[in-house]
Amino acid sequence: MPEELHAGWPPGTPPPSGLIQELAAELARCDPELELIGAAQPAELERLSRDFHDYSPLLVPLLHGCRAQLAVRATTVEQVRRVAAGCARLGVPLTLRGAGTGNYGQCVPLAGGVVLELSGLNRLRQLEPATGVVEVEPGLVMAALDQQLAVHGRALRLQPSTYRSASIGGFIAGGSGGIGSLRWGFLRDPGNLLGLEVVTVEPEPRLLRLDAAASAPLNHAYGTNGILTALRLPTTEAVAWQQLVVGFDAWDSALAAAAALPATALLLNALSLLEAPIAARSPWPAGCPAAVPGEHRLLLLAAPDTLEVLPGWLQARGGTVRWQAPQGESKGLPLRELTWNHTTLHWRAQQQGWTYLQMLLPQPEAPCLAALRRRWGEDLLWHLEAVRQQGAPRLAALPLLRWSGEEPLTALMQQCRELGAVIFNPHTITVEDGGLGVVDADQVAAKAAYDPAGLLNPGKLRGWLER
Ligand code: FAD
Repeated sequence: MPEELHAGWPPGTPPPSGLIQELAAELARCDPELELIGAAQPAELERLSRDFHDYSPLLVPLLHGCRAQLAVRATTVEQVRRVAAGCARLGVPLTLRGAGTGNYGQCVPLAGGVVLELSGLNRLRQLEPATGVVEVEPGLVMAALDQQLAVHGRALRLQPSTYRSASIGGFIAGGSGGIGSLRWGFLRDPGNLLGLEVVTVEPEPRLLRLDAAASAPLNHAYGTNGILTALRLPTTEAVAWQQLVVGFDAWDSALAAAAALPATALLLNALSLLEAPIAARSPWPAGCPAAVPGEHRLLLLAAPDTLEVLPGWLQARGGTVRWQAPQGESKGLPLRELTWNHTTLHWRAQQQGWTYLQMLLPQPEAPCLAALRRRWGEDLLWHLEAVRQQGAPRLAALPLLRWSGEEPLTALMQQCRELGAVIFNPHTITVEDGGLGVVDADQVAAKAAYDPAGLLNPGKLRGWLER
């Protein structure tokens, strides 16, 4: 554990257990309804201190042994304030948790202390009929939120492939994009977050309402600079998306189709391209034939009105529709759970010793992919996702990588950068290093304003440690 993470006790150790007991006793006294999970429930404490960082062989040893000393389940904003006040008064680190599906150890407490689990703070507070804007509490699971929106003909703009389990607060604080990113870009693009309600971590916590501009520094900050207790988000019109699986014999044809399709007037919500070895080992929705050897697969979520044109458009480019079904009506896995990091999940479930990388590919993509293929061969398998970057269609990639150590990983990232790709490194714990590598002064300023003692998720905001 890095030494600089600690607040007021000797480096290398979590807060003294006496302090945690004092905090637990104070919380229990103030609110007997508050659910507290302490040292008597070590397995539950362990579970609430974990996420999906085991996709990274570098993060596993780094985060080994990091565990909360107390977990608290809050169901009201008032309870959140009590926990924040108690932690601030005693100087105890506080790490927030939604559903714990993050990939970079975002909700693993590096410095012990308290994990505050917010899945019980889960109401849809308001849906403005005229605009479709929603105000929602952070613990609401995205699929459940979407169900409530669907009644009004609305839907979330952006969804991670973990949409059936992840919380909306965890997505805003820890996610980046996903299904819908080829229409709406990434979470941090202006317009995707309209406002926040935030509890500060101070002896007398404030409850603030921030507009879009003031909310931006808390968007994708890993819960290091404020506790989100409500989010104001735009929604989009609900569409009865059709799931399509398209087979291609030739990689070059599949790649050309993947690059060209988002620039047409055909309305899509997701486009993923899986190279043949990945397609061969992926599970498929019930009724969808398995991929034949050598078959690359394009996965689409397409609007119903594309169906008159799409099969012919694909056919002309070497693609054949293998399977089609309305989203929500097929059995088994929904197609969205074969995309984004679910591709990595399915591959790792079958193959030992693999990890992944994330990048935005340069345009044109083919020379970069060919150069990487020459060097890495079958140790790097391609999985592409269509996104919108600063308004323009682009292809991102989450390639699967056979793990052979940190040095080859560094060499691969270096080669990708030299070829013009932008790396989003999933093998690091800080907000900055998982992004563009630069400190965002506004994120640090927000932490100084809303978490002046630096107790929230210590160790994850590099700009705070370096200030
Ligand atoms: P958690 O993991 O619980 O928390 C994430 C971060 O948010 C943590 O730093 C936590 O401290 C902070 N946080 C949680 N609640 C609050 C709050 N109320 N206030 C302030 N901070 C808070 N991500 C994507 O972006 N797109 C994808 O398509 C995608 N696919 C994935 C597929 C798989 C198989 C897996 C394992 C992960 C994937 N992820 C993806 C990562 C992750 O699922 C998402 O980012 C998800 O939205 C996180 O939500 P959560 O509720 O699990 O958050």
